[in-house]
Amino acid sequence: MNEYDSKRILDLSKKINYISTKNINEADCYILNTCHIREKATDKVYHEVGRVKKEFRNKKKPIVLIVGCVAQAEGEVLLKKEKYINAVVGPQSYHEINKIIIDIETKNTKVNSTEFEVIKKFDQLNVVKNTNNKISSFLTIQEGCDKFCKFCVVPYTRGPEYSRSSSEILSEAKQLVDNGSKEIVLLGQNVSAYKSKNQRLSDLLYSLSQIKSLERIRYTTSHPKDFTEDLVQAHVECKKLMPLLHLPVQSGSTKILRNMNRNHTIEEYLKIIKTLKEKKPSIKFSSDFIIAYPGETKDDFKKTVSLMEKVKFINSYSFIFSARPGTPAANLKKIDDKIARERLRIFQLSATEIKKKYRKELVNSNANVLFENNAKNSNRYFGRDEYFNSVIVNSNENLIGKIRSVKINSCNQNTLFGEVNLEDTKKVYAA
Ligand code: SAM
Ligand code: SF4
Repeated sequence: MNEYDSKRILDLSKKINYISTKNINEADCYILNTCHIREKATDKVYHEVGRVKKEFRNKKKPIVLIVGCVAQAEGEVLLKKEKYINAVVGPQSYHEINKIIIDIETKNTKVNSTEFEVIKKFDQLNVVKNTNNKISSFLTIQEGCDKFCKFCVVPYTRGPEYSRSSSEILSEAKQLVDNGSKEIVLLGQNVSAYKSKNQRLSDLLYSLSQIKSLERIRYTTSHPKDFTEDLVQAHVECKKLMPLLHLPVQSGSTKILRNMNRNHTIEEYLKIIKTLKEKKPSIKFSSDFIIAYPGETKDDFKKTVSLMEKVKFINSYSFIFSARPGTPAANLKKIDDKIARERLRIFQLSATEIKKKYRKELVNSNANVLFENNAKNSNRYFGRDEYFNSVIVNSNENLIGKIRSVKINSCNQNTLFGEVNLEDTKKVYAA
């Protein structure tokens, strides 16, 4: 979501004559977009600002804005502690950025803008064209969260759940497709909780499927509690919706899920997986895990490893529990660090073995790959298959933006290597 937000901030700043630069030395304004989900986030901000200070030691100081969730959570402290920062801007106040920059340029003011004004934000962003022209583009459909899992800062930094209207979303999706995007990844802290008037996520998926030149749709992240029958059906019926579902589970133990306030059991989670597999046999799953949540016993941890082995997630993101200031879990007794690290090691070993086996089985099979880019001046093309696996091929044809059937010849831990199936390539004879 921060990547999407950063692009939209750049789109906005064009209105006051700023253009983006990849060269930090020539920046007049430096914007650091931050994430607060796990620890050390604030330390990273001070470290980054230190780096900018060094770069500009003998030059005119740029305007420095800290935006995103660290700004939201630590706003006033950041401004007091690091005088080099001109403004802190929370994720629901991005629409104020141009005004803030102009105020700093003209009056050299210090600004703390951390109100939750999500409706105003999207009202202003909707009239600014989304200029992103990547083959695979992000599109935020929903923000914030009302679920209050005990470990998580999102409800405090992104604010309450808010869904954009489906007409706004469709209009932005069409812009992205006109810019050349072939795949759209719908974003939200809880996309499965999407609700605008009578429109649910499933309705949105059907509507987006009607956009002719849009080839692929994905969404992330969803919550098991919101996984309703209509959404299962959309997975079966929407051919453009890719057959990989990222469904975070966090733990394999119902006791821990209850302690986390996740509001579902492991049996309910497994039922969603079973139903989806029955109705759409090609579907595969990825997930998020928190290891060593306070109170996690050896037995609870074993259940998490067993869940990994049972579902065989093809991808997973696992982290040791990180106490976030202001969340209820921050006050709980932490599990000994050595034990936590050992559990993470064991879990990741199991996850890696499963992933390795899955990838080995792909060798000699065919995959439909949407190609996104190529290495500079080379015929080496990078794309993703339907399961979001990275695929690299060599080709004399310009493959960017095209979907091709690829025979997979080999793999390593992160990438599949293959060749385009020539019988699928259409030939032209011109004389
Ligand atoms: N809304 C999604 C859900 O309900 O699963 C997850 C969104 S959260 C922004 C992304 C992931 O960060 C979570 O799934 C969780 O695994 C991880 N995470 C959040 N807070 C954490 C914490 N305090 N410690 C470790 N991991 C955390
Ligand atoms: Fe955080 Fe997701 Fe829980 Fe919301 S549902 S509090 S975003 S982990």
